[in-house]
Amino acid sequence: MKILVVNCGSSSIKYKLFDVTQRKVLASGLAERIGEPDSILTHKHMTVGEEKKQVEKNRFADHLEGLQRIVDLLLDPENGTVSSRSEISAVGHRVVHGGDTFHQPTLIDDQVIADIEACIPLAPLHNPANLMGIQVARKLFPNALQVAVFDTAFHQTLPVEAHLYAIPFELHQKYKIRRYGFHGTSHAFVSEEVAVHLKRPLTELNLITLHLGNGASMAAVAGGRCIDTTMGLTPLAGLVMGTRSGDIDPSVLLFLAKHENLSAEDLDDLLNKRSGLQGLCGVNDMREVIAKAEAGDQQAETAMAVFSYRIKQYIGAYTASLGRVDALVFTAGIGENAPLVRERACQGLEGLGIEIDRQKNRQRAEGIMEVSTVGSRVKVLVVPTNEELRIAQETLRAAEKKTG
Ligand code: ADP
Repeated sequence: MKILVVNCGSSSIKYKLFDVTQRKVLASGLAERIGEPDSILTHKHMTVGEEKKQVEKNRFADHLEGLQRIVDLLLDPENGTVSSRSEISAVGHRVVHGGDTFHQPTLIDDQVIADIEACIPLAPLHNPANLMGIQVARKLFPNALQVAVFDTAFHQTLPVEAHLYAIPFELHQKYKIRRYGFHGTSHAFVSEEVAVHLKRPLTELNLITLHLGNGASMAAVAGGRCIDTTMGLTPLAGLVMGTRSGDIDPSVLLFLAKHENLSAEDLDDLLNKRSGLQGLCGVNDMREVIAKAEAGDQQAETAMAVFSYRIKQYIGAYTASLGRVDALVFTAGIGENAPLVRERACQGLEGLGIEIDRQKNRQRAEGIMEVSTVGSRVKVLVVPTNEELRIAQETLRAAEKKTG
């Protein structure tokens, strides 16, 4: 069964075509700078076990033109990816915000589109772009099932004490202000991978999952259900990130508004784009932060310390939320590739039953790695995430439900 996964940004289309039954990627790519004269399309496809890459300069006036060209490349007989459009039985769309309406992947119809539109105030940059992808894919694949997979859905199981902010209740009711959480597809994917790896049912496992990429979040997952997560109404809350501050005393905003004469937009820009690792040491890429720290740069060393300490605090918090933890699960760019961050985040947590084996932690391997000591009560695992595969799997599940 072939499923196309589409992730639309305001000027980009990221895509992957899967053979889901075989967990195989048949083609993937990225169209960038849509709407500008110098759009670029990078397309990769597999031919007899070998990956072929082509880069095209183009001029895509809009997402429709971009996706049309992608479809042409998928259908190109020389590439041999698919022989007709109808081979693609479903299209899975990443949708950032499903508010409190969407708890699971959902087959798209006009009502669903209206409901995603209603969530735009909660994600004004992302949801309109995701909707554009949906509209365009419906035009180009009129016979395929279209499924929306939401970043927020996995966190809809958060109990009220974890999702409500202590502000006047009417504001929660009026604006739906609450903790939503993001990266849900990744937290869900690695949770299931861990259950398979440990050969135990997910319903019996208590996990703390750590998605540490440019954006970073953690989740407390009890028996497969998320009970807490670090991101909030927006992806700005929680951990320190590449350019985002994460948790901060709200009064800092009031202080800066007053003393630096900053508007709401200025503050939004400051906390989302000029804070985090970038704000602390001038670079947002963890590889550069580590290189600078190792070369003796004190600011970079401090940034590493703040970054790792925040993670450690949440490991403690989520140990309390879960009561018992079976495994810590590190994933995404930093989680999978930065042993130093894993080591520092877990330093001194022997009292919580968490012990990293430094040697195992420094090795590199494909797939899932166990990096805890043999005696560690809590397993520490490194699990590669695959959000697109998860979207494809969820799309398949929703399609199967529909067709019975
Ligand atoms: P995104 O949120 O954009 O999907 P990724 O999951 O790709 O992000 O993670 C990007 C982050 O991972 C960057 O901070 C990058 O520096 C970091 N990273 C990637 N490889 C390494 C590495 N080998 N060592 C340390 N950090 C790494």
